[in-house]
Amino acid sequence: MSLQIHNTLTREKEQFAPLDPSHVRMYVCGPTVYDYVHIGNARPVVVFDVLYRLLKRRYPRVTYVRNITDIDDRIMVRAADNRETIEALTTRTADAYRSDMKRLGALSPDFEPRATEFVTQMVGIIERLVAKGHAYAAADHVLFSVPSMDDYGRLSRRSRDELVAGARVEVAPYKKDPADFVLWKPSSPDQPGWSSPWGRGRPGWHIECSAMSAQHLGETFDIHAGGLDLIFPHHENEIAQSLCAFGHGLMAKYWMHNGFLNISGEKMSKSLGNFFTVHELLEQYPGEAIRLLLLSAHYRQPLDFTHEGLVQAKATLDRWYGQLRGKTLPELNAVPASVEDALSDDLNTPLAISAIHQLDDPAQLRAGALALGLLQQDPEAWFRWTPEGASGPTEAEIDAAIAARQAARKAKNFAEADRIRDDLASKGVVLEDGPKGTVWKRG
Ligand code: AMP
Ligand code: ZN
Repeated sequence: MSLQIHNTLTREKEQFAPLDPSHVRMYVCGPTVYDYVHIGNARPVVVFDVLYRLLKRRYPRVTYVRNITDIDDRIMVRAADNRETIEALTTRTADAYRSDMKRLGALSPDFEPRATEFVTQMVGIIERLVAKGHAYAAADHVLFSVPSMDDYGRLSRRSRDELVAGARVEVAPYKKDPADFVLWKPSSPDQPGWSSPWGRGRPGWHIECSAMSAQHLGETFDIHAGGLDLIFPHHENEIAQSLCAFGHGLMAKYWMHNGFLNISGEKMSKSLGNFFTVHELLEQYPGEAIRLLLLSAHYRQPLDFTHEGLVQAKATLDRWYGQLRGKTLPELNAVPASVEDALSDDLNTPLAISAIHQLDDPAQLRAGALALGLLQQDPEAWFRWTPEGASGPTEAEIDAAIAARQAARKAKNFAEADRIRDDLASKGVVLEDGPKGTVWKRG
């Protein structure tokens, strides 16, 4: 089945036709790194990882870029609060992000540029915008001139009044038009800054993605994605910058946006304080359970976060891994058509999950689940997982007890063998004897 994706530009599901079928290019806006990310931030990572996997199955070459925003006022404030350097803070939190996303089963993108590595390119784009009359310098800032672009607002479809209200920045006196937005701002001596034709300063947020996407994917590319909250102003402004600087009339052909992860009906966000970090959840639940929960709703729908949902996701995976246990599976299996078709329809992951439930053959089950980045582990490793700080015997203790039971059985001391099994059971460890020996799981 051909791939259909919902394009925010047209508000319609469209057949995916890459600009260059021999090389598909995709960009996803990554996090601003100043702390652990919350599970809402992980939603675009997991959803677009499923898309990346699908594209890799279908096209000979896919380049996936997901940036790291490592210059931002929140970063400056947090580094000062923590009494650490910005570099130390962003390196530490970017590393934590990478490791958390890996534990959610997300593949690494092909490039993960950090904004501060591309300031020269950002300055270059701003210079082009100034030269073409789309930007102007005022009071040590450089601003994008919104009225200079005829069809500004195409992605978000906002009226001019909504644009001005939505810009939500206080209307600085140096702005010629209230909708104009910052490309470059001055830095005081104690703030990080780079030299530029407009003095020492730092880039605005939107210009980062125009520069990093052009650098790694070219001035036009196939897919640009992120959460719903990025449509305006971030993506609208990226489009304005890239179209006016590069002059192609197209930045990305398809714009995709995931819905919010909510908590009690409200968007999970750092500012509301209603968040769980991925890092803390990984202490209580396996990464794949978090991943399955994130894929249990269609990506454009809101998804309500509950602990109950995670418990259910874990139970589903226990069942699926149970079906794989003790089986020798072929290395490679094509994704079953029912799963591939569901994903081809604008990444319908809930339908794909119900199709996976129908798969009885373990090899098919694993191949279907792998398309969602699930069932990636050896089943024995899955069943050995324990929440952090949990009581109960360690893996080494269990292995030693199983060996002792084996020896007791060999010596025909069945009473001792049963005692060992019952002792483990009383500690929540269930033994299963199979053709390949004894396996265990925590009950
Ligand atoms: P930020 O670091 O705030 O720029 O967010 C990084 C990514 O997470 C962006 O793609 C946001 O759209 C996305 N995001 C933030 N909060 C949520 C949420 N509650 N649900 C889903 N996506 C979110
Ligand atoms: Zn971006």
